[in-house]
Amino acid sequence: MVGEGIDVVERIIRYQRSKQTTHIVNAEVLPNQVLALEIARPSNFSFQASDYLYLKCPNVSTHEWHPFTISSAPERDDALTLHIRAVGSWTGTLFSQFRSLIQKRNKDVSVPNIPVYLDGPYHSPSNHIYQSEYAVLIAGGIGVTPFASLLQSILHRHHAKSESLKLKKVHFYWFDRNLDSFEWLLDMLQQLEAKDEFDFFDINLFRTGAPKDRAAPRFVTLYTALDLVFKEHKVDLITGLKKQIQPGRPEWDKIFTQLKKQYPDEKVDVFYCGPRGLSRTLRHKCNDCGFSYRKENF
Ligand SMILES: Cc1cc2nc3c(=O)[nH]c(=O)nc-3n(C[C@H](O)[C@H](O)[C@H](O)COP(=O)(O)OP(=O)(O)OC[C@H]3O[C@@H](n4cnc5c(N)ncnc54)[C@H](O)[C@@H]3O)c2cc1C
Repeated sequence: MVGEGIDVVERIIRYQRSKQTTHIVNAEVLPNQVLALEIARPSNFSFQASDYLYLKCPNVSTHEWHPFTISSAPERDDALTLHIRAVGSWTGTLFSQFRSLIQKRNKDVSVPNIPVYLDGPYHSPSNHIYQSEYAVLIAGGIGVTPFASLLQSILHRHHAKSESLKLKKVHFYWFDRNLDSFEWLLDMLQQLEAKDEFDFFDINLFRTGAPKDRAAPRFVTLYTALDLVFKEHKVDLITGLKKQIQPGRPEWDKIFTQLKKQYPDEKVDVFYCGPRGLSRTLRHKCNDCGFSYRKENF
């Protein structure tokens, strides 16, 4: 009964807020059932990096609102972006609608004036990063969206020499099954490294769908070639980044041991967004190392 009351109040609040009408200006279908939406940013819509909003798209459903993290940086004022993975009925319908629209036009741009409603923004736990000096960001799959926004915003503040930025070092770990999942953020990560003169960012990618055994006969030639290029040019041939993309799951024992060695006495804050299952492990590791831990699950 109380639950129903709260639900009604929530609907009324959202109904009032839903006056934030705007429209989709661009859409792109990405690998692994991910849809990137670019939405015209209403002039009064101010948000912080890693905030999320509730989205209603009347073309899909007239009453359903779904939460999504804003993946663009707040410093961008013309539009905001969402990266939405199709996992169920609403996201699946949204994805199919845009895919057929894009296929019809035979190109991935110009999806004019599809109306949407925004409710938000709401803060996420990752927002606390601006109080950190040493931050470790860990993302699983589409859980990278809050960090996509954060990394862009941090870079912006770092360059603007913003006094509000206490951060001294950011370690970023992102794991996903397939190589093509990394595509949409690679450009941004490469830019981040290119502008990063003082090794402020440490970027680590893991392709969990790839075999961990680099010596397996099927892959030995490929890995040997990749290693040779890396040794010679100090750049990963696959991602164009300074560190090689690692096959298999991240070895959290090793990673946390290394971090503790690097920061024996400093205050380190760990932020996680990804599958629930891993959260327990990471929390334990943080407790063991004396690091703080904040998580977000989709
Ligand atoms: C704060 C926050 C931020 C978020 N940010 C993002 C983001 O940036 N990007 C993003 O992609 N997602 C994000 N999400 C998740 C997103 O809101 C959900 O994926 C979306 O609301 C799912 O709606 P749906 O109707 O498509 O899925 P639903 O139909 O509600 O399905 C949800 C889950 O249930 C499972 N399911 C559905 N039907 C069945 C069935 N018959 N049997 C078994 N399992 C089933 C689906 O596999 C799925 O895992 C966020 C969530 C939160 C809370």
